[in-house]
Amino acid sequence: MGKIGDKIASIKGQIPEQVRLVAVSKTKPIEDIQEAYDAGQRIFGENKALEIRDKHKALPDNIHWHFIGHLQTNKVKYIASFVKLIHSVDSMKVLREINKQALKNDRIISCLLQFHIASEETKFGLSPEEAYEILRSEEFKSFHNIKITGVMGMASNTFNTDLVRQEFKYLRTIYQNLQFDFFLGNIFFREISMGMSGDYQIAIQEGSTLIRIGSSIFGARNYAV
Ligand SMILES: *Cc1c(COP(=O)(O)O)cnc(C)c1O
Repeated sequence: MGKIGDKIASIKGQIPEQVRLVAVSKTKPIEDIQEAYDAGQRIFGENKALEIRDKHKALPDNIHWHFIGHLQTNKVKYIASFVKLIHSVDSMKVLREINKQALKNDRIISCLLQFHIASEETKFGLSPEEAYEILRSEEFKSFHNIKITGVMGMASNTFNTDLVRQEFKYLRTIYQNLQFDFFLGNIFFREISMGMSGDYQIAIQEGSTLIRIGSSIFGARNYAV
C-alpha cells in the first residue's frame, strides 16, 4: 500500500468502529484521492463547489462526497445532483436553496447544521437560537427534500486541549437538546461531525460520529499553487 493508504489504515486502526472517517481531499489531486480509494476509503470531503463537482466527475461513482465548507447559495446547483451529505448548513437561505435544488434533482439531501462553537470570531456557524428559529418555522417544515441528520462544528485552532474539549462538549449538548426538542424517535438524526487532524482523538472521546481528516492523510496543503 502507498503512503496515503498507510495513513488511512493507521487512523482507522485507532478509531472505534462506529466513528466514520471523512478523508478531506481539498486542494489535493485526483491521483491522491484515487490512491485513498484504492486503499478502501469511500467518504471524501471537499470545501469548494466546483472542485467537488469536477472531482466527482473524474472519480468512481461509488464515492460518497461530503461538502464541508461554507456553501454559497449560488453554488448549491453544482453539487445537488450527487452530494451525499452537506456538513455546513448555516442559514435558512442556503437550506431553502438546497431544498429547491434537491427537488429539481428528485433527491432528498442529508444536511448537518453547523454551529459556531469556537471562541474564535472567524468560523462560520449558527447559534442555538438561530437553529431553533429555523427548525420551529413553518417554512422549514415545508422542506420535503432535506433531511437534517445531525450537527457539525469546528473547535478553536489551539493547543489548549481543555478549551477544545469544552467546545466539543458544547456541540454534543446542542445535539442532545435538538434531538430532544425536534427529532425524538427520528433514527436519521444521529451524526455529530467534529474532529480534524489535530483534535480528532478528543472529538471521539466527546461523542463524534464523523471525523474530518485532511493533512494527517494527504500531507500539508499548499494553497500557493
Ligand atoms: C480542511 C478542513 C478539515 C481538515 O483539516 P485537517 O486539519 O487538514 O485535518 C476538516 N474540516 C473542515 C471543515 C475543513 O475545512
